[in-house]
Amino acid sequence: MEYVVSARIAQLQVVDPGEIRRVQLALPDCVEIGGARYPLHDTMRPGTAFLTKPWGMRTDKYRRRMYTRSNSSWNEPGLLETFINHTHRPQADTSVWWQSEVADHWEETGKTLDIRVMVDDNRGVATVYENTMVCKNLNLRLEPDGDWEERRFVCVAFGTGITPFLSYIRYMVHHHWDQRGKERGRHMTLIASVRHERQLMLHQDLLGIAQQFPQHFQYVPVLTRSWPNDWPSLKGRIMQLNALSSGEEHVDLTPLLERVPDLSQSDLRICGSVAACRQLIQGLREQHICPRTVRTESW
Ligand SMILES: Cc1cc2nc3c(=O)[nH]c(=O)nc-3n(C[C@H](O)[C@H](O)[C@H](O)COP(=O)(O)OP(=O)(O)OC[C@H]3O[C@@H](n4cnc5c(N)ncnc54)[C@H](O)[C@@H]3O)c2cc1C
Repeated sequence: MEYVVSARIAQLQVVDPGEIRRVQLALPDCVEIGGARYPLHDTMRPGTAFLTKPWGMRTDKYRRRMYTRSNSSWNEPGLLETFINHTHRPQADTSVWWQSEVADHWEETGKTLDIRVMVDDNRGVATVYENTMVCKNLNLRLEPDGDWEERRFVCVAFGTGITPFLSYIRYMVHHHWDQRGKERGRHMTLIASVRHERQLMLHQDLLGIAQQFPQHFQYVPVLTRSWPNDWPSLKGRIMQLNALSSGEEHVDLTPLLERVPDLSQSDLRICGSVAACRQLIQGLREQHICPRTVRTESW
């Protein structure tokens, strides 16, 4: 049996018009199931996704879709935030709707979206459904507390693939970095690759966090298509695809390695389109680079 609660669209902020939006869904405090009321506990782990049913513009019906949460239940319980892009694929359905005026109208008129929840009868509570409860190589659920603190993460995000890492950072800032700010270790480098400056998500916040916690966090925004004359960070793709005379393709990781030379000592995390994640993995293989651990999630 699948249970859902109705969530209000609390925010639909345009990041890049027609391309990327920041979405916030506000959950109710309680859920009523079979005549019983259960308090709704938001305990989602950073790096996991929730399930909702947005409208499909192409199919003209509700569809089930997952979105990785970009904030953290630790400091913003009950508010599910994510960033959603238009895929521009021929089959694009809900991703078109999110960018549309129809979605704006839903927000203005207080129309709700279903969010999947789980009921725990033993504890008498409902919790937000998470796409995975176990850390595996093909998901980005953050390792348990006591484990992740020992790692040096290099997180590579393509486009809205930044969502799990935004959740990590917000959790780490409030959960540990703040309390043990002077210690070294517990490090994350975030490489956020987008086409142009406007597409950078939470850019100012990330610059601020990098300034506040330089011993823990390095932020490398990358613009691949166009950039201002005085752009101080990386320009162009972090990996180059070269066609060999044999017809095969070789992935050159030089731009990435210049920025992160110690990749083989890192815990590498990758998120974004299937093609981009595959290319990066192929480049690592070709150049015999073996990070301590690699975990990837692609949509
Ligand atoms: C764990 C997880 C987390 C995600 N997090 C985010 C996020 O944070 N931000 C974000 O923008 N997106 C995220 N996504 C992707 C998101 O769920 C949608 O898939 C995406 O927004 C595109 O939606 P769409 O409805 O436009 O098209 P699609 O989901 O591509 O679907 C379009 C149509 O194609 C069909 N279809 C899709 N794939 C196949 C296939 N392989 N074979 C046959 N038919 C197919 C579908 O049934 C549908 O009818 C995530 C996906 C997963 C699984």
